[in-house]
Amino acid sequence: RIVYLNGEFLPLAEARIPIMDRGFLFADGIYEVSAVLDGRLVDNEAHLARLDRSLGEIDIRNPHTTKEWIGLQTDLIARNGLEEGLVYMQVTRGVAERDFAYPSADTTPTVMMFTQGKRIAANPLAETGAKVVTVPDLRWKRRDIKSVALLAQVLAKQQAAAAGVAEAWMVEDGAVTEGSSSTAFIVTASGVLVTRPLSTALLPGITRKAVLRLAEEADLTIEERLFSVEEACAATEAFYTSASAFVMPVVALDGKVIGDGSPGPLTRRLRAHYLALARGEG
Ligand code: PMP
Repeated sequence: RIVYLNGEFLPLAEARIPIMDRGFLFADGIYEVSAVLDGRLVDNEAHLARLDRSLGEIDIRNPHTTKEWIGLQTDLIARNGLEEGLVYMQVTRGVAERDFAYPSADTTPTVMMFTQGKRIAANPLAETGAKVVTVPDLRWKRRDIKSVALLAQVLAKQQAAAAGVAEAWMVEDGAVTEGSSSTAFIVTASGVLVTRPLSTALLPGITRKAVLRLAEEADLTIEERLFSVEEACAATEAFYTSASAFVMPVVALDGKVIGDGSPGPLTRRLRAHYLALARGEG
């Protein structure tokens, strides 16, 4: 596998980061993940805009223009012959003597990218639907920033893995914030699509935005509001969205069956619409 590090394309085993990198010491960095389908990037400019915004929120200068990023991503995809999967990008504040406060302004950010092959469209889990467990949301108060500090998500995903399920939905004050690496949606008995409104309590999902636009175009009723675990368990359908899962049906929450235990009709429609969009047919 060929990866990108600070201006160079090189074999994965040769890509090394100094131990004084602030990403390693403090998780002082930002990441982004774009999907690749049929060898092409999906909704990538929105991901790059979020990367730019996250970097700005923690005062790391974006080392590349959008055009430069796209050039690097496209090059990396070609070098790896990637047809379906993900491009991971990370920028840290760079290498400096260990001190919590920012290093001098001329410190060069560390830039790293790699690809991962993954079946996103052709994902068998999307046929059967995913099971989900809820966990307490242990994260900090700026979850709108896509920080590489992911310990709470590591713990959440491990709880899901230990329970033999695909995802964990995080809960704060009785309401679902989002998945450990996805945005949570439910469909109520009256057919209303519900997802949490954007705030500092959750990441502004790029797939969330695209799916809401598709739902609007399909004349669905959308409510951006908080929803409880109880309401989610009683929902007729549920799903989660992310660049790495697209639209993933949820068929059980905390062991309670959602709907009839198979992917719901509205969820399947939205997944199909999103796939068409991602393939450039939307
Ligand atoms: N929330 C969290 C916490 C995530 O890590 C992700 C994955 N990046 C998402 C939501 C989904 O965001 P997107 O649709 O932009 O991949």
